[in-house]
Amino acid sequence: MSELSVGKEVLSYCSKCKLTLAHTIVAMKDTQTIHRVECRTCKNTHAYKDPSAVKMKAATRKKTTRKTTKKTTSVADLWMEAINSATSKSQEYSIRAKFAQGDIIDHPKFGPGFIDRTIDEDKIEVIFRHEIKTLIHNK
Ligand SMILES: [Zn+2]
Repeated sequence: MSELSVGKEVLSYCSKCKLTLAHTIVAMKDTQTIHRVECRTCKNTHAYKDPSAVKMKAATRKKTTRKTTKKTTSVADLWMEAINSATSKSQEYSIRAKFAQGDIIDHPKFGPGFIDRTIDEDKIEVIFRHEIKTLIHNK
């Protein structure tokens, strides 16, 4: 095991270069813990960042981002899927008409919508192109 000390080379993550690079130890916290390092590439002195810890954090962040991206497009995806898979013909939306789950409606303002579920005797949840709405029916 190599000893850590000021002046020795160590791999650290450089937040300026955004890379794991060779650094020179400039300060130690104790004999086993590196305190500050100097980047050999940009000559910036900063706190030592364990490259393996940084890598792990970055991977977690990437996963979360992907999930969020999927969520933001889900209404449109849901709508597209529902409209494409629907077998029933679209009906013009009216507050007086009665709709059931799986029906396709044509709303004068929101356009085509897919009835995801009936919430109540007189309420339906409809997936439109950009949003999910609760509409009144069966009045
Ligand atoms: Zn650097």
